[in-house]
Amino acid sequence: PSNMAKSKFEYVRNFETDDTCLKNCYIVVRLDGRNFHRFAEQHKFTKPNDNRALGLMSRSAHSVMEELEDIVIAYGQSDEFSFVFKRSSNWFKRRASKLMTHVASQFSSSYVFYWKEFFGDQTLLYPPSFDGRVVLYPSNRNLKDYLSWRQADCHINNLYNTVFWTLVQKGGLTTVQAEDRLKGTLAADKNEILFSEFDINYNTESALHKKGTTLIWEKRDETVTKRLKRPNEEEKDVNVTRSRRKVQAYHCDIIGDQFWQEHTDILED
Ligand code: ATP
Ligand code: ATP
Ligand code: MG
Ligand code: MG
Ligand code: MG
Ligand code: MG
Ligand code: MG
Repeated sequence: PSNMAKSKFEYVRNFETDDTCLKNCYIVVRLDGRNFHRFAEQHKFTKPNDNRALGLMSRSAHSVMEELEDIVIAYGQSDEFSFVFKRSSNWFKRRASKLMTHVASQFSSSYVFYWKEFFGDQTLLYPPSFDGRVVLYPSNRNLKDYLSWRQADCHINNLYNTVFWTLVQKGGLTTVQAEDRLKGTLAADKNEILFSEFDINYNTESALHKKGTTLIWEKRDETVTKRLKRPNEEEKDVNVTRSRRKVQAYHCDIIGDQFWQEHTDILED
């Protein structure tokens, strides 16, 4: 506070280093759950995809977008979520550590806060945590490629995990046998195993699992009817429309152009 006199200790502040993010770049903060392989086991996540856990990740990301400033899009899959600050953001003077720690702590506390909404009576056994990193992307192409990279990762892992757990759960293989069976297989081979041996068409699997979750802001016109009484007039009903911003979730392809053509307000020139 301003009423605090400067002490002789004040000089230690000069040991702080500057971590201002370069102007004009998109600031991406990616979080990843710490040791979630173990966390998933201990909390009995269903394999390959636990929808409660995915729902809780999205709910926490939603909270990050609503509580913090200037996040234009977020993308998540498995135990990770990426948050993109608009390139013109000046939140916390673009200080990397401030942005990253606010994202990580808002996310972690939300994960615990909303746990019950997704896991009901199942006890949270210990406090989970998430690591964070900051990466700057100078062009729209770089940013789209970053998000494409994460979504491609989601696809590759989900295809592998879907076949792996199908071999175990429906094919009666041990996890070691399933791993052996999949060694050296290509995407086409994995699709073929699912189709010919288990009658599963990977294309019709859940979009949430194949594509992950993309959160963006959407303007919604909200119309409410209000009863209005003006002086010298009869009381009457009037419709009041206002534009509200809401976080909207998508489980669609963000690698191709279509998503970006349909949402031109996410990126800046
Ligand atoms: P910022 O987000 O910039 O940190 P802030 O409101 O957290 O804003 P701080 O300078 O960190 O500002 O000050 C924390 C404030 O929280 C204190 O000024 C005080 O009002 C309040 N506070 C924190 N801990 C306690 C406590 N144990 N008892 C009473 N008040 C507290
Ligand atoms: P690190 O601390 O290095 O990140 P990690 O154990 O978290 O280690 P990751 O590579 O991040 O390793 O992998 C996360 C793991 O969490 C997945 O391999 C999977 O086992 C588990 N997991 C995360 N989300 C889910 C989910 N929704 N359903 C089932 N399993 C999940
Ligand atoms: Mg404070
Ligand atoms: Mg303080
Ligand atoms: Mg890892
Ligand atoms: Mg992890
Ligand atoms: Mg991970």
